[in-house]
Amino acid sequence: MVDPTSDLCENVAEADAPRCTACSEPIVADPGHRVVTEVVDSRVETAHFCGGCLSAGK
Ligand SMILES: [Zn+2]
Repeated sequence: MVDPTSDLCENVAEADAPRCTACSEPIVADPGHRVVTEVVDSRVETAHFCGGCLSAGK
């Protein structure tokens, strides 16, 4: 039984998923992905990297 209203982060719809900064692929239920935040000109920039790109060393 799948609950479509479940708000667990591993059930993110592809349209709502963050995109990998390196390959632009949507990151959906990727346990190996990494989120990097940094402050640029007083704004917080968030970069997402999928597990594939991390393991590829990009
Ligand atoms: Zn990637």
